[in-house]
Formats: sequence, C-alpha cells, structure tokens
Amino acid sequence: MSIPTLTHFVGGARLAAHTARTAPVFDPATGEVTAQVPLADATDIRCVIDDAAAAAPAWGQRSAVDRAHVLFRYRELLLAHQDELAACISREHGKVFDDARSEVRRGIDVVEFACGIPHLMKGEFSDGVSRGIDMHSMRQPLGVVAGITPFNFPAMVPLWMLGPALATGNAVVLKPSERDPGTPLRLAELWVEAGGPPGTFNVLNGDKEAVDALLVDPVVQAVSFVGSTPVAQHVHTTAAAHGKRVQAMGGAKNHCVVLPDADLAQVANALMGAAYGSAGERCMAISVAVVVGEASADALVAALAPRVAALEVGPPTVGRPDMGPLVTGTHRARVAEYIGIGESEGAAVVVDGRTHPRASGPGFFLGGTLLDRVTPAMRVYQEEIFGPVLCVVRVASADEALALCDAHRFGNGVAIFTRSGGAAQDFAHRVRCGMVGINVAIPVPLAFHSFGGWKDSAFADHNQYGMEGVRF
Ligand code: NAD
Repeated sequence: MSIPTLTHFVGGARLAAHTARTAPVFDPATGEVTAQVPLADATDIRCVIDDAAAAAPAWGQRSAVDRAHVLFRYRELLLAHQDELAACISREHGKVFDDARSEVRRGIDVVEFACGIPHLMKGEFSDGVSRGIDMHSMRQPLGVVAGITPFNFPAMVPLWMLGPALATGNAVVLKPSERDPGTPLRLAELWVEAGGPPGTFNVLNGDKEAVDALLVDPVVQAVSFVGSTPVAQHVHTTAAAHGKRVQAMGGAKNHCVVLPDADLAQVANALMGAAYGSAGERCMAISVAVVVGEASADALVAALAPRVAALEVGPPTVGRPDMGPLVTGTHRARVAEYIGIGESEGAAVVVDGRTHPRASGPGFFLGGTLLDRVTPAMRVYQEEIFGPVLCVVRVASADEALALCDAHRFGNGVAIFTRSGGAAQDFAHRVRCGMVGINVAIPVPLAFHSFGGWKDSAFADHNQYGMEGVRF
C-alpha cells in the first residue's frame, strides 16, 4: 500500500508542498506509518503567509454580522462532521472515540461563542468628554495572525484560536502539530465549505523551521501558542522581541489535594478519569494526588490500585476501551523511562503499566501506572510526564498540601476534594494556580470564560478564548 503525502491548505484548497522534507504520521494503535506530512521550507512558508495577507483586508472589512453568518454555518458543519473529525483524531492521536467526540464538541463551543461576535466587538462611547466632543473606541482586526498547536488536542486547541481570530476579522495561519495533521486540514476545508473566504484560514504543516519563521515574519501580527513549556518560552520571547502580541500556554503538573474529610469513593472515581483519560496526554490531567493523612492515603491507594490494574487498554475505535495508545513509540519509551526513574528514586510502584500485555505490542500502548510514596525531591514529581502515570504524595496537613502546590514550577490546574466549604474557599483563594476545581478534578472553563495557567504553564498576558481571546 502506498503511503500518501499530505499537503498544506492555502487559498481555499489543499496545496502540494514545495519542501522535500517530511515526517511520518502514525496510527498509534498499530505502530504503522499512515501518511507523510510535509515540513515546510521557506518557499512554502512565504506562499502561505502571503496568501493570508492577500485575504485579510477584505475579510476584516466585512461587517461583524456578515462574519457571524459564516461562523454560524461553520458551527453547523462542524456538528454535522463531529463523528468524522473524532474518527480522524482517534486514528492519528490514539484517544478513544468518545473522548475524541468530546474534544470536537469543546472546540465547537468556542465557535458557538464566537458567533456572538457583533456583541463581543462592541466598543465604548463617552458623551461630551469636552464641549462639543464625544469619544468612542472600537475593536479592529490585526490582519494575519498565527496559531501554533500541540498534538494532544488537534481539533479543540486550533478552534480555541480560530473562533475568536476569524470572528474578529483576521486571517489565520495555523501551524498544527506534525503528529496529527489530518484533523486541522479538515477543519480548514469545512471553513471554506461554510463560506469562509479562501486564504482566511490557511494550514502550514511543518516543524520548528515553520514556527520560527512565523515568530519573526513582519506580516504576522500576533502569535497564539499552546504546547510544552520550553517551546512556549521560546515563542513568547522571540515573538515579543519581534513586536507581536503573544499568547503562550505551556506544560503542566496538576495536583489534586485530598483532605481527610473528602468522599474517597468520589475522589477515586474522579482520579480514574482525570489521571488516565486520554492516556494522561491532557494538559489538565491530574498527575499528582496530594493526600492529607496516612489513613486517607492508604485507603485511596487501596481503592485505586485494582481499578488502575484493570483499565482496559486497546485500539481506540474497537469496543469501548478506557485508554488508547500513546501518540508515538518515542513518547511511550519516554513515559516508560519515567516509571523506571520513579522506581529507582524510591517510589513504590503499586501498578506498573510497563507490564501490561499490550505494552510489548507493535502499537504504542502502555498500561496505567500508580506510584505511591512519591516525594517532592523526585524527578517524577517535578517533571511533566504526560502519560498514564499518577503519583501519590503523602502529607500531614492541608497547609503542607497548599505549600506543595504553590512551590511547584507549573500552575495550570489544581483540584481540591473536601466536604468543607470553608476549606475549599480558603484553598481556592490562596493557591497560586490558573484554574481551580472544587470536588471537580479537571476544571476546564467553558467557552464564555477563559483558559489559562500561571507560572511555567503560561507566558504572556492573555488567556485563551472567552473575552480574553476576543481582546487578544
Ligand atoms: P510541543 O511543544 O512539542 O509542540 C507544540 C508545537 O510547537 C507543535 O506545533 C510543534 O511543531 C512546535 N514545536 C515543537 N518543538 C519546537 C521547537 N523546538 N521550536 C519551535 N516549535 C516547536 O508540544 P506537544 O508535545 O505537541 O504537546 C504536549 C505539550 O503541550 C505538553 O507539555 C502539554 O502540557 C502542553 N499543552 C498545554 C496546554 C495548555 O493549555 N497549557 C494544552 C495542551 C497541551
């Protein structure tokens, strides 16, 4: 069987790349290469940016109402193609089909929010600021803006950026992850089918070379990035130094604090989804459970261990497995290495995902792992693993738990489980973290709020979507 080579998306259609460089796209469930994705060269990059620049003025001059009509049609088409998009995500990313469907839905939520753009772009008016003089301010499009996205949400994260950027009259160059480019290409096709003018949503497939060109190109006015912390820092400093507006979301190590009065059955249920859903490849996954008191920790580990060992791991579209494979063989090897590091650092390996029967197969599978008695000095505590590994840290008091959350370099999301309203409120006010869940393990804001972390989980000033996205 011949392996197709994917394209860019320029001027309203798929366009064969100029570059000869490519990267393999895998089916993570089988380990097979299903396509080659082009890695843009300077000629590709210029062509994609210039095409967006040609389309931007006319789109920006259309009325907000007119643009909203296109967004309404886009929303309808995305809904109609939700299953097709989810299947594409499962095929290239490996997350289970229901999870992929939810991802598409969360992305559509942002497009739905952006349909209200005539209201959201209203300016301000002051009557009579001086004799005979009124004053008004208005929001205007920037022109060409870029979105650079990670592998783990190939539909949702692009739509976080595309909804507000297109609605406010900009032309977007999307540089998706080279791991799963199929879904972003379909998102662009559906935009044109919805009536989006050619050139207003272009896809530039590529790697660091494409990203670095977008960060310095004078035509690009703003850069929105979501991905790992080192790259987020690089994007933030480079794009800002070249005079661009920047959003830059980075990695995470989300803690779940369990107070002694928590409902442990509820905590165990929540952690099974939050730590092992999408094989832990979520920036809002819980990867650390900070349990107050030895008795609670013993009970929680006893409740989790058999469930983690029994997680059904398999191909994402066959039956209803709990977890699919990891995205690549390289990433699986990295996560497995971390389990070994935890073991050698002295953590108790209660369940070892490396011994799962599927972990030795050709697909990139790994079972769920539960590490107990993890300490803050360990690398498995400090570093983002981004796989199905939950670390349990035992502490003596709620203050100690709060101090751990605050001292961690990442501050994306955090959760607390308690029956005490006072303790929850106190924690939510004091913890230094972007998004806080109270008896909710994955506190992802809906589209009319906004998404953002603190510390090394986000750089620059603006959060994603909601009014933050519109202002950006
Ligand atoms: P990544 O940083 O490797 O890649 C993200 C994007 O940057 C991709 O488009 C990639 O092509 C590009 N890129 C990679 N290396 C680069 C380099 N050296 N220079 C310039 N560009 C480069 O991230 P990933 O592995 O695709 O995604 C997983 C990471 O994203 C995790 O760290 C996860 O926590 C994070 N993430 C964060 C959020 C959030 O909102 N905070 C959301 C999703 C994922």
